[in-house]
Amino acid sequence: MPTDIASLLFVLTVSMLTMAVALPWVMGQVNTAARRAQLGVILQAAGWVLLLSSGLVEQGAWLDRSLSTLSMAGIAGGLALNALAFDLWCGRMALARAPTVIAVMLTVGYCIGFSSYPFRVGWANGLLALQMLMVAATLARKPLVPVGRWRWLLVGALAAQMVVTAWRGVLGAFYTEAFPTFLTPHPVNFAFAIVANSTAVLSLAGILLAHRDEAARALERLATIDGLTGVFNRRAWLAQSKVDLATSVRYGHPLALLMIDLDYFKKINDSLGHEAGDQALQFFATALQKAGRTGDVICRYGGEEFCVLMSHADHAATRALDQRLRAYLAEMSPRKLGYELSYSAGIAMRDSDRDTLEAMLRRADEALYSAKAQGRSRTVDA
Ligand code: GH3
Ligand code: MG
Ligand code: MG
Repeated sequence: MPTDIASLLFVLTVSMLTMAVALPWVMGQVNTAARRAQLGVILQAAGWVLLLSSGLVEQGAWLDRSLSTLSMAGIAGGLALNALAFDLWCGRMALARAPTVIAVMLTVGYCIGFSSYPFRVGWANGLLALQMLMVAATLARKPLVPVGRWRWLLVGALAAQMVVTAWRGVLGAFYTEAFPTFLTPHPVNFAFAIVANSTAVLSLAGILLAHRDEAARALERLATIDGLTGVFNRRAWLAQSKVDLATSVRYGHPLALLMIDLDYFKKINDSLGHEAGDQALQFFATALQKAGRTGDVICRYGGEEFCVLMSHADHAATRALDQRLRAYLAEMSPRKLGYELSYSAGIAMRDSDRDTLEAMLRRADEALYSAKAQGRSRTVDA
């Protein structure tokens, strides 16, 4: 099959340009990570357009130098931007310091040493290979959030591209006679063009899959967390509480349920406005998290009602939490909210091996009702 390097690189450039235009369009409104990835692809595509354009002007002239230098900046800068996106997608801070430093060094060194062909080919390809190695190494590190297989897809693609790029660098710098130009039909040029084309396809898949992973994580969060207060919602709490109840039965540990309802909440809304009400709910959720112990499962059960399921907590421990919470509110709510926030609560302890969550909730609710009836701002045992 007759193939030539120029056509392969031309197709690569067309693919990159297509990705650069299509990705922002199909992905729509996106967050920082996806924006970085898109910008990375746009820069790399621009780099390739400039590189091909530099082949059309007088070789070695200032225009060639400018176009080639800018193309290196685009390709290396684009990869550094992609590295930032990968950091974010793996749950880390977007640092990618090394790839960014390499991109800057590469561009400056390339421009200065442009007149020496072996230098510029060795410098550019050597540093690009190093940059690919660093990005692949970062991707191979254990991510801080669950990440799909796209990570390995990209590691593989980058590793293959790194090998061919390093090979080009060594040939260009030390065996310049055997490797005169970018378009020579040399095996390394064929390998490079083919690997680069595959990598473009794999990168496209990787970026879209990473983006989908992230959207799935956000949805999962939305499905379990209460948007206003950041504690579990009722559904997630029920699911976790069932597990904790079964564990408590199996090992014979005590288990307590505290059901809380804020006092006169309607008055807060009516006199200070709904926003102040929301603020009070957020403040209360924070207070509950501060007063609770690790392992307590806290949720916003609905409106201004909260539930806490406490594993390994006997009655005294549950009362202690209640006391800590009341003390915290008495001290902090006037300062933070401008008035004293109070609540009524009911406590239900697991009373037998056959107790159910539904029965515990019913008992806690009855106790809460009687706390309200007795004048509020108190906690009653079921
Ligand atoms: P009680 O002491 O008997 O519990 O009186 P209350 O006013 O707290 O009781 P009630 O259950 O009648 O009122 C609860 C109010 O909580 C009604 C509702 O408008 C308000 N509420 C529920 N969810 C939210 C919310 O997300 N934000 C705000 N600001 N208010 C909410
Ligand atoms: Mg209520
Ligand atoms: Mg209330």
